[in-house]
Amino acid sequence: MFETVIGLEVHVQLNTKTKLFCSCATSFNHKQNTNTCPTCLALPGALPVLNREVLHKAIMLGTAIDATINRISYFDRKSYFYPDSPSAYQITQLYTPVVEHGKLRIDFEDGSHKTIRINRAHIEADAGKNIHEGDISKVDLNRAGTPLLEIVSEPDMRSAEEAILYLKKLHSIIRYLDIGDANMQEGSFRVDVNVSIRRKGDEKLYTRVEIKNINSFKFIQKAIELEVARQREAWEDGVYDKEICQETRLFDQTKQETRSMRGKEEAADYRYFPEPDLLKAVVTDEMLAKYSVIPELPDQKMARFVKDYEMNEYSASVLTSSVEMAHFFEAMMACGISAKNALTWLTTELQGRLKGEMNITNSPVNAEKLGSLVKRIEDGTISGKAAKDVLDYLMENDTDVDSAIDMLGLKQVSDTGAIEAICDAVIAANQDKYEEYKSGKDKLFGFFVGQVMKESKGSANPQTVNELLKVKLG
Ligand code: ADP
Ligand code: ZN
Ligand code: MG
Repeated sequence: MFETVIGLEVHVQLNTKTKLFCSCATSFNHKQNTNTCPTCLALPGALPVLNREVLHKAIMLGTAIDATINRISYFDRKSYFYPDSPSAYQITQLYTPVVEHGKLRIDFEDGSHKTIRINRAHIEADAGKNIHEGDISKVDLNRAGTPLLEIVSEPDMRSAEEAILYLKKLHSIIRYLDIGDANMQEGSFRVDVNVSIRRKGDEKLYTRVEIKNINSFKFIQKAIELEVARQREAWEDGVYDKEICQETRLFDQTKQETRSMRGKEEAADYRYFPEPDLLKAVVTDEMLAKYSVIPELPDQKMARFVKDYEMNEYSASVLTSSVEMAHFFEAMMACGISAKNALTWLTTELQGRLKGEMNITNSPVNAEKLGSLVKRIEDGTISGKAAKDVLDYLMENDTDVDSAIDMLGLKQVSDTGAIEAICDAVIAANQDKYEEYKSGKDKLFGFFVGQVMKESKGSANPQTVNELLKVKLG
């Protein structure tokens, strides 16, 4: 009779070349404090200038989630002091964000789906990093001023499962749009989970607890389950009002618990006010025309695979599960092969051979190579069985498909003259069987096929062998 209520805030680091308000590079893995300048160090007199690339990416996301893209949006200052932010405020968009009122569809295993509303997506600047080493704490400002898009959902999710489906879908959209790498471990897709409970049927929203910065889907799921259990227990024990307060909690993965980190600030604590150093952000007609044409998204691609390649939904979902997988498959298809073969050779043969750190993005056999290997089966150059040996060889040796086939001597013989000679030799050597066959023992046909294949060391094209033997055995 309880219901879980979840709203999610996701900070996506945008993969622009330069920072949000200055021309420093966004690659913050360089030597500490080298990608900085007076603007991102907040030195007096340095003024921010908006990086237009950020607006372009926001338009792309807004289009993907079917949202309103505000042609004019504004920046605001959120004041707080922390050593990783030299200005002692963060530039964000509170009152008029660039993207509002979007939606995202999540799909359940049973085929049903649900739409989660997205309240807004706004632009903001990231902080630097505090690095604690023993007794010393250092501040690295390479990340300071990196552009983020914060995507805030409505409290529409009713279970940990729904939250994870939403996050996975959003993650995949970011990757398909290529507006960020969305690497959770590295912090380029950071999730804050807001959780409350209420009696089923109740319309009112109860006190929410925010759990910050959990860096894997598995841990997010766990953190939600633990927090829901804590709130329910408090409710059932009659201590809900005393124990559940609006606060920020941390998920401790070793202790498997959520723990209070700090009381949640109210908006008033941040002293928000319009950012006086920046002009309004304008989305021009040209920008909108150009950036609202976005790449095909996972749902659409999946529907198209089902329709165009006559594959089942499960196969299509495997092939669109990540943008890398989808692109790999499509590049294979460009070799002019059948979808069925492309699917098997990618998901069974290649993936079965990718071990340890290997995945399709760093696979020694790329899509073009695997596609041409399949092509060689389809055009009769090699048998499917031989192709597996060729693939084994290609996994270890950097060479092209045709050279590998030559190298291994696996080319199928389709030349009728050569096969005919083998057929004649096999028949001559097995006169007794030939007589039996003639007198009606049809089953022996298979014996002859087998002998010819064996004599040719598997290189004869089986179809040619069959055709020739039919004629010769009469
Ligand atoms: P803040 O930055 O203060 O956390 P935001 O408005 O950016 O506030 O985000 C609030 C998030 O919390 C939204 O995702 C919203 O859907 C969610 N939320 C608000 N009230 C509740 C509630 N009672 N239970 C669960 N989630 C909630
Ligand atoms: Zn800078
Ligand atoms: Mg929050």
